[in-house]
Amino acid sequence: MIRLLVATRNRGKLVEFQKLLAPLTDVQVVSMDEVQSAPREVVEDGDTFIANATKKAQEVSSATGMLTLADDSGIEVDALGGAPGVVSARFAGEGASDADNNRLLLQKLAHVPTEQRGARFRCVLALSDPTGPLGTRVHIEEGVWEGTVADAESGTCGFGYDSLFISDGETRTNGELLPDEKNARSHRAIAARAMIGFLANYLQVR
Ligand code: IMP
Repeated sequence: MIRLLVATRNRGKLVEFQKLLAPLTDVQVVSMDEVQSAPREVVEDGDTFIANATKKAQEVSSATGMLTLADDSGIEVDALGGAPGVVSARFAGEGASDADNNRLLLQKLAHVPTEQRGARFRCVLALSDPTGPLGTRVHIEEGVWEGTVADAESGTCGFGYDSLFISDGETRTNGELLPDEKNARSHRAIAARAMIGFLANYLQVR
């Protein structure tokens, strides 16, 4: 069994990655809570998803010496010039709740017509393996999920901006999708599938 450390202490995120990476049958996915040498936390202060995911993967893998996968994700809204982007989690301020962030997004788009409410979820995954063939390099994969921002929240599934996001070709918000429906199509699933493809080859030569 190869241990893959996911750079998170969030139980929900760990479970989601365990599901997404299940096709890698010889890999055991563990979180920072299970590895004593992992740093308490990594500050996400980069300007891009790639910078944040890379920083997390490198800091956690160099502290632990383990094969490490880190992610960063968020929503980019066209009418806001791509905001909130990397600050999606704290759009309405430090410590903001999902409800606060959604309320602010609706306020900012109050006068924006449907055809100009385009948005996308983006997820970047970074893999670091300082003692393996990757050395000081980080392998990056990205997933993008296009859609629009609805006029009002609906649905209670998911988290973050899910109750406001309608993916292209759908009539329901993500909040109205079953978890398995979302997990088959999401930005995170797209990035994870690409990373699985890379890992399947990488682990053979490691
Ligand atoms: P992080 O990648 O855990 O830092 O997440 C950043 C933020 O982006 C989350 O707190 C959410 O607000 C938003 N976000 C990322 N992925 C999703 C998603 O799948 N659904 C809804 N919101 C998301």
